[in-house]
Amino acid sequence: MLLRLGKWMRIMGIDTENAKPGLEDSMISAYCNEHERILVTRDVEFSTVQKNSILIKSTDILEQIREIKIQIPVKREDFLTRCVICNLKLVPYQYSHNGLLPDDVIGKRLQTCPKCERIFWEGSHTENMLKILMECGVYP
Ligand SMILES: [Zn+2]
Repeated sequence: MLLRLGKWMRIMGIDTENAKPGLEDSMISAYCNEHERILVTRDVEFSTVQKNSILIKSTDILEQIREIKIQIPVKREDFLTRCVICNLKLVPYQYSHNGLLPDDVIGKRLQTCPKCERIFWEGSHTENMLKILMECGVYP
């Protein structure tokens, strides 16, 4: 399972679905083929038989991010454009004084997920993510 990497791939704006736990390889394979999706796996055997696949060798998350970056083109402008939970593209969100958001988000670019309605904004947490991705060489 590469759930943690999947989350980071969404942070990088890569369209990423996670296979449900316990799903047979054959089911995952059929799904990837039907939906033209690239399989990302740590399973050497599975990656050999699946035509569109990326084999992740490392168990270290930072190394895994580097491995993805080598195989999938990642653009800086795609950073934080996708919900890390739902995988949907975020849409602009208009701030309102409804008491749901902390005051320090005023003036920041807000985005929301059309499905789970989580609100995302850039702050120290996103700066840390960006720093990690720069350290991994994802962004110059
Ligand atoms: Zn969502």
